[in-house]
Parts: sequence; structure tokens; C-alpha cells
Amino acid sequence: MSRQYEIVIGLEVHVELATKTKIFCACTTEFGGAPNTHTCPVCTGMPGSLPVLNKQVVEYALAVGLAANCQINQYCKFDRKNYFYPDNPQNYQISQLYLPICHDGYVEINTTSGKKKVRIHEIHMEEDAGKLIHDEWENCSLVDFNRSGVPLIEIVSEPDMRSGEEVIAYLEKLRLIIQYLGASDCKLQEGSMRADVNLSVREAGASEFGTRTEMKNLNSFKAIARAIEGERKRQIELIEEGKSVVQETRRWDDNKESSYAMRSKEDAMDYRYFPDPDLPPVLIDQEWLDRIKAGQPELRTEKMARYQVEYSLSEYDADIITGSKHMADLFEAVTAICRKPKEAANWLMVEAMRLLKEQEMEPENMTFSPENLAKLIELVDNGTINRTVGKEVFEQVFKEDVDPERYVEEKGLKIVNDEGELRTVIQEIVAANPQSVEDYRNGKEKAMGFLMGKTMRAMSGKADPGAVSGILKEVLGSTRG
Ligand SMILES: [Zn+2]
Repeated sequence: MSRQYEIVIGLEVHVELATKTKIFCACTTEFGGAPNTHTCPVCTGMPGSLPVLNKQVVEYALAVGLAANCQINQYCKFDRKNYFYPDNPQNYQISQLYLPICHDGYVEINTTSGKKKVRIHEIHMEEDAGKLIHDEWENCSLVDFNRSGVPLIEIVSEPDMRSGEEVIAYLEKLRLIIQYLGASDCKLQEGSMRADVNLSVREAGASEFGTRTEMKNLNSFKAIARAIEGERKRQIELIEEGKSVVQETRRWDDNKESSYAMRSKEDAMDYRYFPDPDLPPVLIDQEWLDRIKAGQPELRTEKMARYQVEYSLSEYDADIITGSKHMADLFEAVTAICRKPKEAANWLMVEAMRLLKEQEMEPENMTFSPENLAKLIELVDNGTINRTVGKEVFEQVFKEDVDPERYVEEKGLKIVNDEGELRTVIQEIVAANPQSVEDYRNGKEKAMGFLMGKTMRAMSGKADPGAVSGILKEVLGSTRG
């Protein structure tokens, strides 16, 4: 029998905080902008410049730490992590090593095998680096310091995860907590959430950990899942061949679906951390901490419970709607306007989810306004359009945020309530389909459905099915002989 293996995974997750200004200066954190325009002497590392800590960074870090059940170091400090790299203008990064702001927390995840706690070793605050742009035409590298000094928190987990599924569940849980807190938008694609995966393999039942590798450059949940599977296979193959796994940092290439070594432990840097002499320690008094605790917004679990009570949604519906902060916000805004929570939930869960999947979009990127969805719900509810036409209109709302009232008017989608017109169409269809009429008379219910379908098609879906059915029965009755 072949040997059984177990994978052991720990994550380091970097999250860009949603502050307006950088962590140690007043420059904007806005994404984009011409290179090196969001900069000043502090975030370009000019000699003599001095950092001043952004209070909002501490508050976001505390909010995330509290939501992740962490202990808080009410006396914490910043340290310098020294290394040379062209995107790092000071030649050190201001981070936290000895006394990080949060430590010893956990989040609970849900997987197909049940609930599980993933422990959090620590959360620390630090600054982001600039960006290098490699210009292959000119054969040179350029540096843009706009991102330099953007505030980050790094969330370091314990090596508690045992599968790709657990890793994704953990990341989704973190992302939801942080989005609900408003501390970051956590977009993996845009780099405001980035995960490094530490992974090792051991024989099932072994108590010692195997040698681990670290994988960087993972910018989607799918890439993370593929990278984990690729690295698991690679390490097992090495072990089976009697070779050893080398402790190293590897870069995952998602296009090639393989990883390659970036640097081994032998070239690992000695960062020579020491306390930053330019920044005083951060003292978080009880009053401040209590204020943050009291100001924590409603998180997902509470929201789910409230939706079931306040809006009578099922647990399943509440679970799907609260699965994205933006979706939950939309739901509440639509409901506040039209007062039809069940309808609002249905349009979001069925039609919006279908279109999201079709277009490979995240719910966070839906851009239509709650007003327009509320108007659409009203149009269907008061019988101006039927549900089938409603779906067509919803697609336009979803894609281009059209005003449903104007769209229905312009495209002539209103239900035809003119009984005379409907009767004429039905009489024509009955006359053209003698076989179905015969079948109906012989008690075949299917024939009725067939004639209904014909009529709806002839009316381009704009008829009220109830009215069609009524008139159809009447017409068939009168031709019964
Ligand atoms: Zn600056």
C-alpha cells in the first residue's frame, strides 16, 4: 500500500487598509495616478524626514484583531526590517516584530467536514513598498513610489490548515470580516489582499512537521487552490524519490501551473530588526480600546440572524445574501425603498448570482443602484410587466444600471391588457391549431399548455398568463360545438 500524506499549511496574509492617507505621512493612498505623484520626503525615504503614525491604521488593526478574537498588546512598538531593494527607499521597512499590535486569536471556518478553528499567531502593522516596472524595450527598470507607505496589516496564522478547501474557507472568512469592518476592500486581483502560502508535507500520523516552502505571487482563490495542489504533488514526489524538500521561497506561475525557486534558505536575509528610533511606542489605553469595541459594526453572523428575524428570510437565503458585504448593503437599500425583502432577496440570489457567474464577476463589483432594482420589483409586483420580461429588464439593470420604467416604456414591454387584442390573437391561434383543439376536447390537458405557449409567443411574452388562460378556456368552450 502506498504511503498516506498530509499537508500542513500556514498563511501570511497582507491587507491594504482603506485609510485616505499613508501610514506615516499625509500622501494619498489613492490607487493609480502618474508615477511618483503621491509622494513626499517621508515615503521616498529622504534623509532627515520623520514618520508620524496615522491613528486610523491603529484603529483598523484593532478592529480586525478584535473581530478575529485576538489579544491586544496595549503597549506595542515599531521595528525596522533592514534590507536593500530598489522599491524600498529607506533600505528598511517599518514593521512590527517584538510587540505586534494583536496576537493569539482565531477565526472559525466552515468546510464540508464541519467547523474548525484556525488560530492566528499575530497581526502586525507595516508599510507597503513601491513598485518596480521593468521596461523590456529600454532594458531598464523604473520605480514608482505611489504605493510606498500605504498601510498594511499582516495576519499570520498558525500552521493549522490541512487542505486547499480549508485555506480558501479561511481566506473567505478573513475577507468577509475585514470587508464588513470597512478596513479594506480585500480585492485579490488588485492586490489589496495578498496571501503567501507556507506548505509542508508529512506522512499521515507523524508528529513532526516536514520541511516547508513558501509560495508567493498568488492573486486569486483559484490560483491559490492550484498552487497548493501543485506544491503538494511536487513535495510528495521528492519524498517518494528519496530526495529532500529544500526550504525555499517559490514563485507560482499560474499560466504554466508550476512553481519555481526564487531563493533558498541559504540566501535568506538577516533583517537585523531593531526598534525604530523615530517612532514612539504606541499606547492603547482602555478607554480607546473600549471605544473601538463599542463601535464595531454588525458582522456577518449577527446580520444573518437579524435577516431571519427582521425580514423572515430563510437561513439559506440569509447565508447567500450576507456572503458579500456589498450584496448585503444592496439588499438592505432595495428593501428600504420597496419594502419587499423576499422579492429583493430573490432577484439578488437568483438573477444577480446567475449573471455574476456567467460574467466571472465578484459581487463586490456589481455597480447597479438599489433604486433601479426597487423600481423593477415594483413594475413586476403591480403587473406592469410579467416576470419573464422582468428578467430581461434585470439584465439591463445589472449591466448598465438602466432606469427600468424608462426602459419598459421605450421597448414597449408593458403587459397588454387590451382584452379585444388578446381575444383576436387567441381566436387566430385556435383556428390555426384544430388538432390541439380536438385533443383538448378529448381531455388532454397538455393541449391547453401548448395553446397557451403559442399565445404567449405571439404576444412576445407581454401578456398576463392569467388573462390568456381565462380567454382561451372561454374561446375553446364556445367552439366545443
Ligand atoms: Zn508621503
